[in-house]
Amino acid sequence: MGPEVVMKFGGTSVGTAEAMRQVASLVASEPRWPVVVVSALGGVTNKLLDTARRAVQGEDWEPALHEIIGRHHTMIADLELEPNMLQDLEEEMERWLRGVALLREMSPRVKDALLSLGERMSVRLLAGVLTQQGVVAKARPWASWELGLETDGRHNKADVLSSCLEQIQNKISQLSPGEVPVITGFIGRSIDGEITTLGRGGSDFSAAVFGAAIGVQEIQIWTDVPGFLRADPRVVEDPALIPAMEFDEAAELAYFGAKVLHPRTLEPARKRNIPVRVMGTFHVKPDELASGKANGTLITNSGTPENVRALAIRENVDTLHIHSLRMLEAPGFLARIFNILANFQISVDVLATSEVSVSMTFDNYERPLLEKAIKEIEQFAKVNFHPDRSIICLVGSKLRNDTTLIGRVFSLLGQNEIPLEVISQGASQINLSFVTEAKFGRLAMKVLHDEFFIAE
Ligand code: ADP
Ligand code: ASP
Ligand code: MG
Repeated sequence: MGPEVVMKFGGTSVGTAEAMRQVASLVASEPRWPVVVVSALGGVTNKLLDTARRAVQGEDWEPALHEIIGRHHTMIADLELEPNMLQDLEEEMERWLRGVALLREMSPRVKDALLSLGERMSVRLLAGVLTQQGVVAKARPWASWELGLETDGRHNKADVLSSCLEQIQNKISQLSPGEVPVITGFIGRSIDGEITTLGRGGSDFSAAVFGAAIGVQEIQIWTDVPGFLRADPRVVEDPALIPAMEFDEAAELAYFGAKVLHPRTLEPARKRNIPVRVMGTFHVKPDELASGKANGTLITNSGTPENVRALAIRENVDTLHIHSLRMLEAPGFLARIFNILANFQISVDVLATSEVSVSMTFDNYERPLLEKAIKEIEQFAKVNFHPDRSIICLVGSKLRNDTTLIGRVFSLLGQNEIPLEVISQGASQINLSFVTEAKFGRLAMKVLHDEFFIAE
């Protein structure tokens, strides 16, 4: 028999000594054999980025480095762990930063190597706490690659090679019975030995990859909210908890901005039909977990369908409106546009077309590349670029069945004087999304939330 459950703890779950102790008691209370995946201490990845930015800009970066090291040392002291347990990693961090300061630039490769230190440090702390006082019989820190995880080598946004799943399973099967591995989230290594990161928030994806490779009974995502909520709690006050939802719904919401899950988390889980459960580290009591009474949000391949399950908002989005009379009955017109965008590595999120125009949204692209793409498209069409937009997305597995829904949404937005731009009822059947100016995005989410989820 091998491990039966993956427990992933995000940065906020391991941000303080007290939080770390809560995590340790949750791990100890899980009745099944767990594999633990952990993020860097909350805020550390951002702090590493900020320190590197200072080094690039020729500012004084050393105080920022000492802050990161100091934070870990305070935690080590509070937890009564071995004082020098991170020394080699602290030295490595300083070497990378010194190099960045000298060159006054940071390549994607160096960025990944530097950011990897956040997770490489946190696993040692958590494994230390777990081993202390015999919380679990045996726990050991691991870099993901030591347990077989391999990436495609794309810096800053690597994918995990599906060919490594068997290797992971082999390595895990060699653990001694009951041993709890504490594994780095977010980072991996390519076949050539290059450290790569899976994109911001990528620890959720790491957890799902390990869960799928091992074939566990459940992948648990432990975070700072009680589970997947009806709307973004940073926008709507106290949205309700969703007890259960489907993989497709969660994937769509994560893609459109529900930060609680990295968008790729659901892929490996869905492929092997492994339930994903989102739970609150500070909401569940260890004895509830021990007695199987911890709930949170259970994400599976089935569930009670709902017209609207939840809302998501994606901010900092730009749109492009392309208009050409030549588009009318011209085969290959859209293909031509998409080829140009693909050549400049720009991927489209929301798309709407009419006979003579096409509108689309993007984020996370390189601005100079988009400018080049626009120049090429301008040779055969009129192009308007609008920055600072938000996408609002309604998701529900029965959304298409509700014939009054679109009317309800649009009249509500009209009453609140929220202008709409691109509107798309996705090919996925379960989502309705629209674009509005950034200044209206949050208001749109609030009014829709009250309409659909606040009982009259
Ligand atoms: P972690 O460090 O545990 O990975 P994240 O900050 O990445 O935590 O994700 C949790 C956060 O996601 C929450 O604190 C919340 O602000 C945000 N969030 C956005 N949309 C949702 C949603 N629909 N349900 C729950 N949380 C959401
Ligand atoms: N530490 C990484 C980040 O801040 C990964 C994660 O938290 O999932 O993006
Ligand atoms: Mg996260």
